[in-house]
Amino acid sequence: MAVVTRFAPSPTGPLHLGHAFAAITAHDMARAAGGRFLLRIEDIDPQRSKPLWRAQLIEDLTWLGLTWDEAPLCQSDRRALYVAALDDLWSRGLLYPCRCSRRDIEQALGAPQEGVSLAEGPDGPVYPGRCRCRPEGPRPQDQHLRLNIAAAARETRFTETAPGLAGEIRTEAEDYPQSIGDIVLARKDFGTSYHLSVVLDDAAQGITHVTRGADLFEATRIHVLLQDLLDLPRPVYHHHALIRDAAGRRLAKRDDARALSKYRAEGAGPQDIRRMLGL
Ligand code: GLU
Repeated sequence: MAVVTRFAPSPTGPLHLGHAFAAITAHDMARAAGGRFLLRIEDIDPQRSKPLWRAQLIEDLTWLGLTWDEAPLCQSDRRALYVAALDDLWSRGLLYPCRCSRRDIEQALGAPQEGVSLAEGPDGPVYPGRCRCRPEGPRPQDQHLRLNIAAAARETRFTETAPGLAGEIRTEAEDYPQSIGDIVLARKDFGTSYHLSVVLDDAAQGITHVTRGADLFEATRIHVLLQDLLDLPRPVYHHHALIRDAAGRRLAKRDDARALSKYRAEGAGPQDIRRMLGL
């Protein structure tokens, strides 16, 4: 099987060392295996995605010496694919519209006023199911759409540890309602979600291996469920430790001091970046 890897940044801020680690790892893996390395621009959020950041990330990756084998795929061009998947899930009764704000959810959960700590899923507090009563008729376009995860888990076939996840992630579908809950699959403001787009595009690009930070462990559990529901192939996943600064803090995009462009401006070269990352 030819190895196909990808780097899938969101153009919402500067790339930092953590991104460089993910990009270089995926790139080198493909090159070592004689496979292909692809770039995908995850720009589904029109408010936060900016052409400036897109241009900057291409410049940073090029400076790092990375090359990709096809023109970058842009998620903003792929709405028709996401809509088709949502229509499919809607027609199978697996989605429902939701108007709850985060505050509504916290109130429905009775926390934090009563000192109850909320069960946290990958996207925030596990949704208590307040809107889980699906109206008949066409899919509404102006509301969030949530996945009825209990119904989805009943439709899935896997209970075993998924290949490529061994020892890392519990994939037993019965556990999903408590630990993940009814996640939003389409946000009302941009009509899809990271989770839905990423699985559809990994499949469309024929990605065989995904390397991502350990912070996405739980997201990967959602992704393997969606792959099962939508009959998509499952890549092999590897989760790496998060890249931290000298004080042990996780690097975030807003941590401008660590942007790759800053290192470059200070005279560092791509080999210095690789050395800093232990690559
Ligand atoms: N756009 C996501 C990010 O920048 C991609 C993560 C992934 O699926 O590997 O975090």
